Amino acid sequence: MHLFDNPAFDDHEAVHHVFDKTSGLRAIIAIHSTALGPAAGGCRRWHYGSEAEALNDVLRLSRGMSYKNALAGLPFGGGKCVVLCEPGETKSAEVFQALGAAVDSLGGRYITGEDVGVSTRDMAQVGTRTKFVSGLPHVNGAVGGDPSPWTALGVALGMEAAARRKLGAGSLEGLRVAVQGVGHVGFHLCRLLAERGARLVVSDLNADNLRRTVQQFGARAVPPEAILFQDVEILAPCALGAVLNARTIPGLKCRVVAGSANNQLETAPDAMRLHERGILFAPDYVINSGGVICIAREYLGGCTRQRLADEVHRIPQRLTAIFDESARTGRPASVVADEMAEMVLHSRSPADSSSSVQSGGMLNSAA
Ligand code: NAD
Repeated sequence: MHLFDNPAFDDHEAVHHVFDKTSGLRAIIAIHSTALGPAAGGCRRWHYGSEAEALNDVLRLSRGMSYKNALAGLPFGGGKCVVLCEPGETKSAEVFQALGAAVDSLGGRYITGEDVGVSTRDMAQVGTRTKFVSGLPHVNGAVGGDPSPWTALGVALGMEAAARRKLGAGSLEGLRVAVQGVGHVGFHLCRLLAERGARLVVSDLNADNLRRTVQQFGARAVPPEAILFQDVEILAPCALGAVLNARTIPGLKCRVVAGSANNQLETAPDAMRLHERGILFAPDYVINSGGVICIAREYLGGCTRQRLADEVHRIPQRLTAIFDESARTGRPASVVADEMAEMVLHSRSPADSSSSVQSGGMLNSAA
């Protein structure tokens, strides 16, 4: 499918296909918006069924980053990168170095970081060729590195706010939570939920990830095809996107959905499907913004761990405002969140931000 006909195309400013013959890098970098600043968003390494699938993913993810950064109050627009790989293909440093060169060639319009399938070590390779990268290995306890613990913290705090709103629960103690995907974020989330006395049901395609979560937190494991339909108060999708759709929503037994995965709704009408079933959905790009806040603060510099923690602790406040507006207007929380994000985005035009991108005025480079 051509770019401009793709249903996920949403006036993206640019989409770059990247190929490097020497390393074998095949990647797509999508810049959705630079209205609020340089487009920031992580890099996902994944085996896609086709190039069209990869394009669809990067278009959806980069738009989500514009909304996420806007509502998190960060001076960044939205972008994303996908690196295409084959099943079982081992990672190579050369691929990430070539990606660094491609990111650098965009002159700071796009800033990359980790996402699914990518680690701080990979970002260090990217960083050998560009300064427009964040999520680099920690140096002397400074803010930064793997963002997933911060993402998990934001999700746990947001889940408490959603449980308060929907279930009238003062805490997560005794509540049943199903977590789909116990990788970077899901594992840290399970730790926080276990500390809060939640009863955990988990699943993962990766046997090692599943085993360590069961062993460390006493979680009950169920097969991947069963996790969404558990008899629980809260469902936390922490694997991939599009898990909430016309096929799955009718079978959900939870009353709240609050998880880290990006783009949990497959299509726009899925928001109404959840709403009509009386399931409270915590908009994913709001509840999972702890990671990008960490990445942004590392990139901009001058932030302490305490200030970062304070910023992540404001996520429930933002969610509560969205839930309030949803209750007042009778519209799904995710629709309300989209409108709020669009208001922020449209308050600045791309032209407004170009000078700051060029001058680096709002950036403190990570070099
Ligand atoms: P990850 O790759 O470390 O973990 C994902 C886990 O999900 C893996 O263990 C994988 O085996 C498992 N999985 C995949 N498909 C599954 C399925 N159908 N059923 C059960 N398990 C399945 O990724 P992550 O960094 O933990 O990110 C998880 C999600 O959160 C992604 O959607 C990501 O985009 C989003 N997110 C992550 C961060 C972050 O800080 N890492 C920030 C914001 C959003």
